[in-house]
Amino acid sequence: MTPRAAAPARKSSPSAPIAAQPTRLAAGILTALLAACGATPEPASPAPAATVRAAGGSGGVNDPAVRARPYVVLVSFDGFRPDYLHRFGTPHFARLAARGARAEGLVTVFPSVTFPGHYSLATGLYPEAHGIVGNRFYDPARDDEFDFRDDDAADGSWWGGEPIWVTAELQGMVTAAFFFPGTEADIGGVRPSHWRPYDGSVPNPERIAQVLAWLALPEGERPHLITLYFSLVDSAGHNLGPDAAGMRRSVEAADRLLGRLLDGVDALPHAGRVALVVVSDHGMAAPDPDRLTVLPDVADLRGVRLVAAGPAMSVHVGEPARSRALRDALNAGLTHARAHLREEIPARLHVRGTPRIGDILVIPDGLGLVGFRRVVERVRLLLRPGMHGWDPHLPEMHGIFLAAGPGIGAGVTLPPVEAVDVYPLVAHLLGLTPHPAVAGDLAPFAAALTEAEQEPAP
Ligand code: AMP
Ligand code: ZN
Ligand code: ZN
Repeated sequence: MTPRAAAPARKSSPSAPIAAQPTRLAAGILTALLAACGATPEPASPAPAATVRAAGGSGGVNDPAVRARPYVVLVSFDGFRPDYLHRFGTPHFARLAARGARAEGLVTVFPSVTFPGHYSLATGLYPEAHGIVGNRFYDPARDDEFDFRDDDAADGSWWGGEPIWVTAELQGMVTAAFFFPGTEADIGGVRPSHWRPYDGSVPNPERIAQVLAWLALPEGERPHLITLYFSLVDSAGHNLGPDAAGMRRSVEAADRLLGRLLDGVDALPHAGRVALVVVSDHGMAAPDPDRLTVLPDVADLRGVRLVAAGPAMSVHVGEPARSRALRDALNAGLTHARAHLREEIPARLHVRGTPRIGDILVIPDGLGLVGFRRVVERVRLLLRPGMHGWDPHLPEMHGIFLAAGPGIGAGVTLPPVEAVDVYPLVAHLLGLTPHPAVAGDLAPFAAALTEAEQEPAP
């Protein structure tokens, strides 16, 4: 594979979220009908529950032109902080790093929570451009709230930009997802060829078994891009706090899962064609008990809509004059936080381009929290030892990045990379033409990229 030139320089003012396309609805209905009729076969695999086969895109068969390309498994360990790799026994992460490249950290996006973080990894866009500005958020134009725990996660009309699996499908590649925010949705009418509704109770070894089964499919149907997601380290971080010695258990369990995946890949006849890209969506930190704000205690908020944006608060007011007056009233009362009109939010947070972030965003100082009374009380009582969502440039919010396989040099350590740079990297490894609107850049990986051998075309 010949490495292409680096993607164009990072764009400072990303495009607006791509609105729902009417064709998406039709494609979604078609997908549902096909699935209901059993018109598309299930993959040959030990999958315990139904893996849905989607219409659109590659149709589950690789275009002959892409069959000689490598395979990429994009693995996310939710909430995995880089220091865990040094504090605990992680021989399999070390094995992966020795074979390939690792970055000192991964700078995620604001708010540093699961849905925006993963979707920026997947699209190369900041939240103001892809539109997923929280696990939950309100869209004033739709007058509707997105909630990651209900059907919204599968409704493509919420999701802007073009995730890497859609880019791949549109260029004739089979893709598969064992979870990753966005993979359930019909984005631009396209889903991964294989995907499944999120179910956190599916045992982690089962997820790996399915990924290995996909990689063992005949070349025509074998997915070139597979996503895989684990939440165990994030859950432990919330429950114990990131500095607790007890984090050892989940971090070492994550390491064993990675070892199982590496062993399985190594046993494949085409192991040398499989690249692994291992990331996390954000880090974890203990909230600062001296910087807690119960927002409704600060000003009269009757008639406005409040939606938590991590430890910040989005305030939807609806009227510009009232927004300005409320911002001033809030700032007169706030001691550990600051209220910003949308256009005043620091540009480096990359959220002010979308009304979904609120007319006002109240951002806590440092690792403080601006929330509802119930949430603030839980933190005050030390019932929430670990949280995230803060400024992604804080080291505690950094995630991890490691990658090895064809196209990646061995033993390379990179300075921190950005979440938005992962889309250009994966597109490059797969020989895909990236979507032109991405904010991310391939250049930060330059020191780690090599010219990969390509299999002769079948
Ligand atoms: P957060 O609160 O931002 O730490 O979110 C982490 C949680 O998100 C995990 O514990 C999962 O329960 C949940 N999650 C992860 N992926 C998905 C998904 N695709 N759909 C719904 N929930 C998810
Ligand atoms: Zn997360
Ligand atoms: Zn979390």
